[in-house]
Amino acid sequence: MTDCLFCKIAAKQIPATVVHEDDELLAFKDINPAAPVHLLIIPKKHIGTLSDVQPEDTAVLGRMLALAPKLAAEHGIAVTYDADGTPTGGYKTLVNAGPDGGQVVYHLHMHVYGGARPWKGMH
Ligand code: 5GP
Ligand code: ZN
Repeated sequence: MTDCLFCKIAAKQIPATVVHEDDELLAFKDINPAAPVHLLIIPKKHIGTLSDVQPEDTAVLGRMLALAPKLAAEHGIAVTYDADGTPTGGYKTLVNAGPDGGQVVYHLHMHVYGGARPWKGMH
């Protein structure tokens, strides 16, 4: 899809601060961060929105979700446990779908927010 912003980022036609790349996924910093850490995870394959996901896409969806804790650990926002087992730290994952879901860029992406309680002032 030549006219898609995130396809162009995946194709390195538009620059982005890439934090992870493999055969199927790309992750990069959001250009307008809503939290101290704000990353976007995308499939390299163009999928417009969550409602366009096909049965053959479920594996890549799983990989997107599984990448979030790995990136969180690399960016200092992993969930860890105190000596008594109390969880600390953490992050928020979010997939906006469609206009009523607040989606602006129509290439499936998962937000990863952390470093502060990001739901304050988050759209
Ligand atoms: P949505 O509302 O579609 O879930 O989120 C789209 C996100 O993409 C927004 O948080 C926005 O800041 C980010 N974004 C839009 N254009 C660019 C861009 O050119 N580069 C990067 N890195 N992020 C972008
Ligand atoms: Zn695309």
